[in-house]
Amino acid sequence: MFENLIAQPASGLLAEDIAAKRLPPSILFSGPATSGKLTCAIELARVLSCESGGAWTCTCPSCARHKELSHPDLLLIGPKDCALEIRAAAAAFLANRTVPTRYLFVRSLRKLALRFSPALNERDDAKFSKAAPILEDLEERLEELSPSRPIPEDTETLAKTVNAAVELAEKLEGECLWDSVPVAQVRNAAAWARLTPSGKTKVLVVERADRMQESARNAFLKILEEPPSNVVFVLTTSRRGAIMPTILSRVRTYAFLERDKDAVGEVISRVFRGEPSGADNLSSFFYRYLPVPPENISAAAALFADLTLKLAIDSGRRPLPGLRAAVDEVLAGQEIPRAVGPSQIVAMLNKCKPGIVWHLFLSSVAGLMRKALAGGQADARETAAFAAWTASIRKALDAVDVYNVNPVSALELLSVEMRDAC
Ligand SMILES: [Zn+2]
Repeated sequence: MFENLIAQPASGLLAEDIAAKRLPPSILFSGPATSGKLTCAIELARVLSCESGGAWTCTCPSCARHKELSHPDLLLIGPKDCALEIRAAAAAFLANRTVPTRYLFVRSLRKLALRFSPALNERDDAKFSKAAPILEDLEERLEELSPSRPIPEDTETLAKTVNAAVELAEKLEGECLWDSVPVAQVRNAAAWARLTPSGKTKVLVVERADRMQESARNAFLKILEEPPSNVVFVLTTSRRGAIMPTILSRVRTYAFLERDKDAVGEVISRVFRGEPSGADNLSSFFYRYLPVPPENISAAAALFADLTLKLAIDSGRRPLPGLRAAVDEVLAGQEIPRAVGPSQIVAMLNKCKPGIVWHLFLSSVAGLMRKALAGGQADARETAAFAAWTASIRKALDAVDVYNVNPVSALELLSVEMRDAC
């Protein structure tokens, strides 16, 4: 069991605990992003439901459904950036039409679609209503791609289906996915957990458990206090310190480690059939599938900082020498037009789609501030301005992510706030 989880000692500990029948009902997978926490959680769900021993090669009906992530005893809640993994899996499948790459692609789509399970649906929830027609279309594509059917012969038809599925998934993630765990979903998940499983064991996975708001945390704590039998709760986080002590005291933690370069290379070549060279971690491999190259995201961030510095000077504020130097360094030698406004910056960023582009752009703006501070030219006034900017950047992140504000408007507001704090 856990053969598909590469270079993570937690899998050995889990296998031992399962064999000794001492797996607790509530566990936490803690470790850096892309270290395999979700892979392990869904593999655990398969192993616990398996009707004969839990080997990855098992073909029992329960394992067949789990491998396609369509088993009714698995529920998944919590936010996630799914787009780049889906793109990487699509590329792997189109380049090597094999059984494993087909599973890889189908599972990458289902990892997103599962978050919209009918069991979680709250009546009149706007996001569920918006997601319904997209999910219906995606389900049709998944049906065509199902590993139980022969792989379509015609390359063009297959590419069309794959690309349509990718597009639908990005629409679903961009327009409907929640940024945290809504309390209603915790309550619905609790109701689901109390119903008898269709097989042996139910597994509820809560991703980024540190992002639960207070009401959701309290509702979740209630289930942890009186866990129903035949259910395992798996929480995942990359920020264990941000999880409430009351929750931590009720879960056993399994630590996931940052993989070394060789292990990352193995994941890239074995799982994604990709070329490992140049990728220090799985995230940098996924960035190859960004619609905007990372260097263009950095350039857009520098242009935005440049615009803000101009706005500040024009309104009579003193220059920020540290940031000026950091921006000039990024833009030096680049043949890109200066003096662009927010709408041109957003256009450079593929309209900030998928959502991870917006996250990377804002973290690149924050990176310029760190560079300015490290450069030694920033004075106390500039340092104080950066502290205020950090709060404004956080607000801009949420504006687009949580409140669906148009990125152009969010950037306009951000540049004004940043100017005013100079
Ligand atoms: Zn099985």
